[in-house]
Amino acid sequence: MHQAADGGLARVRLPGGVLRATQLEVLRKASGELGDGRLELTSRANVQIRGLDADGPRELSDRLFTAGLLPSIAHERVRNILASPLSGLDPIGRYDVLPVAAALDRHLCERPGLAGLPGRFMFALDDGRGDLASVQADVFVRAVDHRDALLSVGTRAARVPWDDVVELMLAAAEAFLAERQQEWRIAELEDGERRILDRLGLQATEDRPTAGTTIAAGPHGDALVAAVPLGSLSQQQAAMLTQVADEIRITPWRSVVIPTGRGAQPELERAGLVTTPDSLWNGVSACAGRPGCGKALADVRADAVRLLPGMPRDGRRVHWSGCERRCGRPTGEFVDVMAIGNGYLVDGERM
Ligand code: SF4
Repeated sequence: MHQAADGGLARVRLPGGVLRATQLEVLRKASGELGDGRLELTSRANVQIRGLDADGPRELSDRLFTAGLLPSIAHERVRNILASPLSGLDPIGRYDVLPVAAALDRHLCERPGLAGLPGRFMFALDDGRGDLASVQADVFVRAVDHRDALLSVGTRAARVPWDDVVELMLAAAEAFLAERQQEWRIAELEDGERRILDRLGLQATEDRPTAGTTIAAGPHGDALVAAVPLGSLSQQQAAMLTQVADEIRITPWRSVVIPTGRGAQPELERAGLVTTPDSLWNGVSACAGRPGCGKALADVRADAVRLLPGMPRDGRRVHWSGCERRCGRPTGEFVDVMAIGNGYLVDGERM
């Protein structure tokens, strides 16, 4: 929980982005009854509820615990696990990493010492398609095939068997805790890559793979990827998602994967979700802005709705920020739209 300008802000971590329909319904109702009614999707594939009053956090915690969304209070800040959201749903991925993400989360919560990881520390599991290639994870695993994966804690990678992956990811986190002083991330630790691989007894033999791909809105086999404009789900949109699938997956790109959702494309589109790759709202994100954030110089979400149709696009993602902190900005290249109090800068130029 954090205190924001518009009340309490709760971030609910979802390892692998997986959310059962029953859990989504708990979040939807909690937001409607305790918060501002909306569910915000984050760049770490989590969900946020805003506008909680003084009694909100306690009541929300009880509901999350009952729904299985708060398995360990001590570990809550460190359950930062991204996984390729289409994993197991199409033939492009080389290995289904979502069960690995679930096992990693379970074992993470079983180790009391790992509750001491910094909250920014991130694990990522790419199923081989490269959709998480640009994510700045501390411990990054990418599938090679059904037997092996590449594990990296820096720019180089070691080939390891899948049977060892969970243990090695946790061991890398423990090695970081043993080596760190004030550092928040492995990248900040001097010679961190070598020190951690040495503790793991691993030898990096190849470069970390950096070739990437993006997941466009639209059908992917039986699955449907629906982008959520500005990452903000309304009560009606969330309710619809609970009705069209038993489970959804939140992506780090403010969209949702509905594993069997292809047939629901027209009704989701009518509800305001984006299910085609040519929509104006694809690849557009914004920070909270006014009134949610006390630092904001503008209501960036309202301004994005008003100004986006007239803006030229060049294929890059677009991120709107209410100040120079640029919270929630995407990784990789993006068009930087930043409020300056009396207008906006776009990539440093006055709009
Ligand atoms: S970028 Fe600035 S205005 Fe936006 S949420 Fe972060 S601190 Fe607030």
